[in-house]
Amino acid sequence: MSTPDRGDPMFAILTDTTRCTGCETCVHACQRTYNLPPDRAWRWKQKIDDLSSSRFTTIIRRPGSKFVRQQCRHCLQPACASACIVGALRKTELGPVIYDEKRCMGCRYCMMACPYGIPRYSWEAKVPLVRKCILCYDRLKAGGQPACTEACPYGATIFGRRDALLAEARRRFAAEPGKYFTPPGRSGPEIYGEHEVGGTCVLYISDIDLSFLGWRPNLGDEPLPALTWAALSKVPPVIFGVAAAMSGVYWIIGRRMKLQAEAAQRAAGGPGATGH
Ligand code: SF4
Ligand code: SF4
Ligand code: SF4
Repeated sequence: MSTPDRGDPMFAILTDTTRCTGCETCVHACQRTYNLPPDRAWRWKQKIDDLSSSRFTTIIRRPGSKFVRQQCRHCLQPACASACIVGALRKTELGPVIYDEKRCMGCRYCMMACPYGIPRYSWEAKVPLVRKCILCYDRLKAGGQPACTEACPYGATIFGRRDALLAEARRRFAAEPGKYFTPPGRSGPEIYGEHEVGGTCVLYISDIDLSFLGWRPNLGDEPLPALTWAALSKVPPVIFGVAAAMSGVYWIIGRRMKLQAEAAQRAAGGPGATGH
């Protein structure tokens, strides 16, 4: 799975929690790749190993020595990008949902819209930014694979074409009947992310129910951007609120650009001043 056919535009990650030992080699590979600072017990973090501005992926520990890698799902129709009124988040042709910090105005609508509660904010930075996994977009463009999948010593999280990974998941189901979790009322095991919220580029198979990863137990298969805008269109005060917020967008962007320029100047004359 590490050298997929570059002719297929959509890449993905398949995480098989039954193979994960919780070693966090993937977490540390990500932190090294993005020069993320050591984990700190920020008071707003639920715990030190929660997702954060210094941890784009993490390992959730569940009873029975079960380990579940957490990261952005790179939704096929991302609610975060839909909610961002300045286009700072965007779905790329290869699969990653990436972030342009120069456009971000810091409204954090993306954090509220994400059905998996993924994006974090670097509150501790002088110029705070939204931080999340970007599926190693630059590495993918260069013909490589994500640092985390490359690093995993157990093949618990692998990279490839999305369709090939779906086929690999089904192959594992067939090879070991009864091993993987089948939701009540379903005829076969679940590939989390195959259809959920319209489909995602980060897929999971597991021997435990992973529905706890969403904001609500059953997120459904309908893309959330459609729901978001359908709901908004029925609530005129919200629309007016958004319109009012947009009137301040240019002022906020201008202010952020000024702060970034000041931070860059400080960095040029001394220790780095950008956030993490
Ligand atoms: S999981 Fe959340 S942050 Fe990631 S692409 Fe989907 S909506 Fe955006
Ligand atoms: S895909 Fe890249 S950015 Fe995302 S968790 Fe893995 S190493 Fe980090
Ligand atoms: S490196 Fe592999 S086995 Fe270790 S925590 Fe990450 S996904 Fe699990």
